[in-house]
Amino acid sequence: MKLLEDLPGVGPATAEKLREAGFTTIEAVAVASPGELVAAAEVGEATAAKIIAAAREAADIGGFETGDQVLERRKLVGKITTGSRNFDELLGGGMETQAIVELYGEFGSGKTQVAHQLAVNVQLPPELGGLNGSAIIIDTENTFRPERISQMVMGLRAIDDREWRPEDFLKNIHVARAYNSNHQILLAESAMELAESLRETEHPVRLLIVDSVTAHFRAEYVGRGTLADRQQKLNKHLHDLMRFADLNNALILVTNQVMAKPDTFFGDPTKPVGGHVLGHTATFRVYLRKSKGDKRIARLVDSPSMPDGEAVFSVTMEGLRD
Ligand code: ADP
Ligand code: MG
Repeated sequence: MKLLEDLPGVGPATAEKLREAGFTTIEAVAVASPGELVAAAEVGEATAAKIIAAAREAADIGGFETGDQVLERRKLVGKITTGSRNFDELLGGGMETQAIVELYGEFGSGKTQVAHQLAVNVQLPPELGGLNGSAIIIDTENTFRPERISQMVMGLRAIDDREWRPEDFLKNIHVARAYNSNHQILLAESAMELAESLRETEHPVRLLIVDSVTAHFRAEYVGRGTLADRQQKLNKHLHDLMRFADLNNALILVTNQVMAKPDTFFGDPTKPVGGHVLGHTATFRVYLRKSKGDKRIARLVDSPSMPDGEAVFSVTMEGLRD
C-alpha cells in the first residue's frame, strides 16, 4: 500500500484534498488526529477514524524498539569526512549517518560549499573517510554546480593518487530543483523511493542534502497568522527526513539561513530560521561564519554527544581543507 487512494474510504477527491492540506503520505495520515482529517478532507468523524486506523496499520509506524535493537542500528552509523580534520574532530570524527546535521549561517558563509564537499566525500571508500555511497540533493536555491563537484574531485588527487574522475562522481549525485515548499516535501518522498531502488546497488544512498531547507517556507509563509501552519509543515517535512535517515542509514544535511534580529543589542544578532521545530529535530547544529580570506569558523551548537566548540577550516578551489 503506497498511495492515499489505497486506504479504505479514500477516493480520488478525498486523496486530493488530503494532499492539498499537506497529508501527502500514508505516514502523515497515520499520525494525524481525526479532527485534522475531518477539517482537511471534509469527511465524517467515523470515516476519519477508520482512515487513520488503516493508515497506521499500513504505515508500520511501529513505535517502540528495544534498547538492543537501537544499539544494533547504532552500530551501523557511518561517518563522512568533511575534508578538514579540524571540522571532523569538532563533530567527533565527521558527519554521521542516522542524523540530521543543520548548517546555518549568513549568505556566503560556506553552507553550499560544505554540501558539495559531502556529496563528493560520501562516495569515497571508507579508508578515505567515505561510505561508498551516493547522494541526493534537493536544491531549492538553484546553487548546485556540477563544475564545482568536478573541481573538488580533481582536488582529491592531491590526497590520494588514484585517477579520480569527475564523471564517476557526478553519476552518483541525484539532483532535483524544488520550486516551492510543497514540491520540496514531495521530492523528499520521491527521494525515499529513489533510495529504495538503489539500496541493493554498489552505491546505496547515504546522504540526502536539502539546500536550503527553510528558504521556501520562509518566503511563502509570511506574517504571524501563518506561522503555526508553516511550522507544522516544516515539522512534518523534517520528520520525513529523519525517517529517511533511519531507514537508509543516511546522513541528512540541511542548510538554513540566519535572519537578522534587529531587537538584539548584545551577542550575535543572528538567529537560524525555523525556530524551535528545526532546533529540536536537528541532531547536530553547526553555525558557520566567515573569517579571514578563505577561512571559515564552524561552531557546534547543541550536540547530543559532543561538547560545544569551534573549528577553523578553509574553502579552497580543491575543496574543504584545514
Ligand atoms: P552559502 O551557501 O552559505 O550562502 P556558499 O557555500 O555558496 O555560501 O559559499 C560561497 C563562498 O565559497 C564564496 O564566497 C567563496 O568564498 C567560496 N567559494 C565558492 N566557490 C569556490 C571555488 N571554486 N574556490 C574557492 N572558493 C570558493
Ligand atoms: Mg547556499
